Amino acid sequence: MTRTAFVVGAGLGGLATALRLVHRGWKVVVLEQGPEPGGKLNRYEQDGFRFDTGPSLITLPHVFDRLFAIGGVDFRERLNPVRLDPLFEYRFSDQSRFTYSSELSYLTAEIERLTGSTEDIDGLYRFLELGAKLYNLSEKTFFDRPPLARPRFKDLSLLLSAPKRHAWSNYKKSVQHHFKDPRMRQVFERYPTYVGATPEKAVGTLALIPYMELAFGGWYVPGGIYRIVQELRNLVIQAGVRIKYNVAVSDISTENGSAVGVETSTGDSLKSDIVVSNADPGSIHRITNGKAGRELKSDQRSMSGFVMLIGLNKKLKNIRHHTVCFSEDYNREFSQIFNERRFPDDPTVYVNIPSVTDPTTAPAGAESVFVMANAPADPSAWTPEFQAEAVRRVQARLTASGMPDLFANAQFVEYWTPARLESDYSAPGGSIYGQVSHGWRGTFIRPSLKDRKINNLYYVGGGTHPGGGTPTVLMSAEIVSDVIGNRSE
Ligand SMILES: Cc1cc2nc3c(=O)[nH]c(=O)nc-3n(C[C@H](O)[C@H](O)[C@H](O)COP(=O)(O)OP(=O)(O)OC[C@H]3O[C@@H](n4cnc5c(N)ncnc54)[C@H](O)[C@@H]3O)c2cc1C
Repeated sequence: MTRTAFVVGAGLGGLATALRLVHRGWKVVVLEQGPEPGGKLNRYEQDGFRFDTGPSLITLPHVFDRLFAIGGVDFRERLNPVRLDPLFEYRFSDQSRFTYSSELSYLTAEIERLTGSTEDIDGLYRFLELGAKLYNLSEKTFFDRPPLARPRFKDLSLLLSAPKRHAWSNYKKSVQHHFKDPRMRQVFERYPTYVGATPEKAVGTLALIPYMELAFGGWYVPGGIYRIVQELRNLVIQAGVRIKYNVAVSDISTENGSAVGVETSTGDSLKSDIVVSNADPGSIHRITNGKAGRELKSDQRSMSGFVMLIGLNKKLKNIRHHTVCFSEDYNREFSQIFNERRFPDDPTVYVNIPSVTDPTTAPAGAESVFVMANAPADPSAWTPEFQAEAVRRVQARLTASGMPDLFANAQFVEYWTPARLESDYSAPGGSIYGQVSHGWRGTFIRPSLKDRKINNLYYVGGGTHPGGGTPTVLMSAEIVSDVIGNRSE
């Protein structure tokens, strides 16, 4: 008899799991509360401008290859992803600039130019060596299966073979050990923000992120990264999955401690053999009044963001696809976000202009500009008055960093605050990566892929194992599909 699964949410993880399960012979229905698929990986279009509202850079493209192969499609041929080089232009508060390339000879020459010494080039090599060891270790353990699911002697020996001091200690200390120039430190301290964490509290293991980016590249998909979702949705539908939009799951139905289906906002009670939630376990905890999921308290949430999408009526000169304008005091910025839980006075501002690489994203003579600053995962501050103040701080940083006035020539600006991320995608507090990867616990003991109290209820996506970010969300779909498959096939 065909077994049935409801997937709660059509985010990247929900769609990927639906594809994997339907190809294992399951009958799958996806229930999405919003009007379209994608979740945080989404897009916005206005007046001929097209923006990705979420991810602007994808890494580990081979993980996307594996998923699309399940649907019989070659990811590279279908989407033609392009490897961006240089990856970033960094602008520091002392007015110096640094071009970050994944071409090592170029990168090392830039380090020598910026710092006037070769000392940090040695540091870079040692830091990347550490990242490579940690990546290889993660591939065989953390990225491959549920934590502690099948403890093996092999895992233990792998763990013991990891470089001890800098891998298992604090990320910021590790960066400070490897790099001497304060600007190089700032560049590498930024990487924990890829998972919504502060370098101060992240573990050294996150050194694998800059390694992955340099070794496997940072990629863009012409037409917009949202094309990944559109293609994936097509594959899922062709394989026989039904996706129902504008249907919010309001409760998980249970009998004798097992999930037997879902209750919906449309008043339906739907039965299935299993339920897979792409909603954060914290969100499931809230809607089920603590019956299922895991509470995500405000101090356990990864960062959110304040995003401005600018339809710019002008072509910019001498500008990169990705620019990062660093704040003057990175420590203070993180302290304001995580300790004081407020939007920073002087935010680091990330500017992504895909029309530099891909003219199809903006009308002729114009640019589509995505501007983002990190913010605490707390929607309460975002009144219209506060939003205007946050824009002022972002503008001040852009001006101080020598960026052209993006707001003066704006045809329109569309704002995404933590409050909108929470209301549109049920991201707790607007948190982008679910539970924050701080310390050992936060990084390695993430909310479980299988509910701890309710049988037949599983989780997929950035809020569970291995964590947030597009490739890890796809790994989560691989692991949970295997867990479901192994228990019942
Ligand atoms: C501004 C921003 C920038 C980012 N930049 C990058 C980047 O450069 N690179 C990168 O790799 N990643 C980036 N990310 C992170 C990346 O987008 C996420 O990690 C990933 O898309 C999350 O996928 P997910 O499967 O966890 O699902 P989500 O995107 O969280 O989707 C969950 C879905 O479930 C639905 N849902 C929730 N509750 C219910 C319910 N009760 N009933 C029905 N449906 C429900 C939601 O509406 C949503 O569609 C960024 C994200 C944002 C917001």
